[in-house]
Amino acid sequence: MKNKRGMPRNEAATRVDHAYATAPRRRPQQIEFAGATPAGLAIQGIEVCQAIQSVENSVTLIADKATLVRVYINQASVRSATKLRGEITLRTSEQGPATYVPAINELDLDPVDGTTLVDKRDTMAASLNFRLPASSTRAGKLMVEINRVTQKGGEDQPLTGTRMTSATFVSAAPLRIRCLGLRYRDGATGKTHTPDAVHFTYLRSYLERAYPVPSVIWSQVVVDADFSAPFSDDTVVQANMQIAAIRSSDVNSGVDPRTHYFGLVDDANGANFMRGRAMGIPAMPQPDTVASGPCGVPNGFAGDNDLSYADWYGAHELGHTFGRYHPGFPAGQQDASDPAFPYQNGQLSNADRKYVGYDLGDGVLGMPLQALSGTDHHDVMTYADQQWICAHTFEAIRIRLKEEDEQFAPAIA
Ligand SMILES: [Zn+2]
Repeated sequence: MKNKRGMPRNEAATRVDHAYATAPRRRPQQIEFAGATPAGLAIQGIEVCQAIQSVENSVTLIADKATLVRVYINQASVRSATKLRGEITLRTSEQGPATYVPAINELDLDPVDGTTLVDKRDTMAASLNFRLPASSTRAGKLMVEINRVTQKGGEDQPLTGTRMTSATFVSAAPLRIRCLGLRYRDGATGKTHTPDAVHFTYLRSYLERAYPVPSVIWSQVVVDADFSAPFSDDTVVQANMQIAAIRSSDVNSGVDPRTHYFGLVDDANGANFMRGRAMGIPAMPQPDTVASGPCGVPNGFAGDNDLSYADWYGAHELGHTFGRYHPGFPAGQQDASDPAFPYQNGQLSNADRKYVGYDLGDGVLGMPLQALSGTDHHDVMTYADQQWICAHTFEAIRIRLKEEDEQFAPAIA
């Protein structure tokens, strides 16, 4: 009997046994530490990140939301370039059992690299990164400790600086969305336009990633619109009136009254662009405020080059339904109806780069984990390019959602 490679079977078996019997021995070179005593890898910071964060972890963490821990190590603490791996432990109480989590990446630490901690925060590869298991993001306190940092195949390295931080996860309300695709006929071409599935999917994913929510309770359906193309300035008003009527009927038949309704109108490759609008900007919790917006392929619209702009555009209109106004950027293009907006140019952060946006990605849609520079990205309530959510908007929507969740909870029969 011969195996596939043409060797007698027992010889192949012997080789396999041999390969399994001895692990390869490749010991890394010992790290030489530089500078301060005691010698060791100097920890610069431990950041617990969701959609937006500062290195002091000042932004509220939402319980049961995807969370990433970043550990920064000072490259000046080694004399030559080295590759590091790491492991953290998670505990909900001092004496409680630990959950051990390995880093998802290997960190290149090079003493000639001049990047500061502020620079590193804008680059995911400049830290050891850990995705927290869902069981570790329940409401309450979590102690995050760096358990070990090693070279590949090497020993635990001595660490200096603070190797532990504690985080508090706060219970938050889910986001309830019913998304209606409004199918319309174009009178000029005789064609009918329906939003592609990708637009619903992108909007849902963006809300899940950027909004201060543990989850999005989502449903979608396509209905025939009460209007047709060509559009006028009134089209969005008609769209919102139709959505409000559907919502009212649905809520009367038992749909959760905390559900926000949103309409998607396909732009027919730019031929029929319906500018989005919310029916109001309620000062008090009012989940019956509906909104609608356009959807289509962005082709660079507001710096977006992926498959859909329905995501940030829809998140903006829904932001209005949670009482969010316009920060006023770019100046001259947007009214400044939110005078409390704290960051220059509508950015996620001022020039101090205190805040960095984090998009933890979407595996199903092939979206990677990304750090979003706080000075290159802009709040979702602006009209500026590269939109994400800033801490000001994140906290305000979190509080509004909580109020809606309490005030509009359906009576239990
Ligand atoms: Zn707006």
